[in-house]
Amino acid sequence: MTPLRANNNMVTIAERLNNAYDRITKAEQNNQISDPVQLLAVSKTKPIELIQQAYDAGQRLFGESYVQEAVDKVIHFQHYRDIDWHFIGPIQSNKSRHIAEHFSWVQSVDRIKIARRLSEQRPTNLKPLNILIQVNISGDEKKSGCMVEELADLAEFIESSKQLTLRGLMTITAQTDDETLQLQYFQQMKDCFDKLKTQYPNIDTLSMGMSGDLEPAIAAGANMVRIGTDIFGKRQ
Ligand SMILES: *Cc1c(COP(=O)(O)O)cnc(C)c1O
Repeated sequence: MTPLRANNNMVTIAERLNNAYDRITKAEQNNQISDPVQLLAVSKTKPIELIQQAYDAGQRLFGESYVQEAVDKVIHFQHYRDIDWHFIGPIQSNKSRHIAEHFSWVQSVDRIKIARRLSEQRPTNLKPLNILIQVNISGDEKKSGCMVEELADLAEFIESSKQLTLRGLMTITAQTDDETLQLQYFQQMKDCFDKLKTQYPNIDTLSMGMSGDLEPAIAAGANMVRIGTDIFGKRQ
């Protein structure tokens, strides 16, 4: 069977994945980073055929943003026990149960109310949910994520929640041509992460950088990047 092509581009998903890993490796080398940076393949809006191809090419971490389609995909692939599904989208409280029941990671927790619901709704026969706190590092009012000043209380709440495990921080930075500013935001995130780690030494994940800005993110200390477009093609 000939592999499906991503978009109108004559390149397979496996080749695109390889290219993404090459970019990451280069960035690791340029910054003398020895611990591998993880790649989360962001498959939101993309059909299961393309996810299957990424899986067949060896990819195991996938990110989704929209609850309904995400749950359908998780259920479709549930016989693959080795996929880690990360929820990375905005969370409405009336949808939190689906996330608590179907995902192993949630990267977009930005308030106590949502953390409490996820903990209460996480089935007790499943391992605790791995949580990243989403930080609005630029303080832009239109962006989601908690403010830096709210981080300490939210982290403490998550740490004390039985069915949640605090793993680190996530951010989405504004698309900007100002590379200096972009790098500054990533570095501020790294500072927040290091500070939090002195208090919670077990946290291990700093998720930042996407198709357009993974190099500065890795330079600043990201150890997980989230790549959609460069693997699966443009979204509608
Ligand atoms: C869609 C999305 C991505 C992927 O962005 P690309 O630019 O397509 O690589 C990463 N992180 C989050 C939170 C997203 O919603």
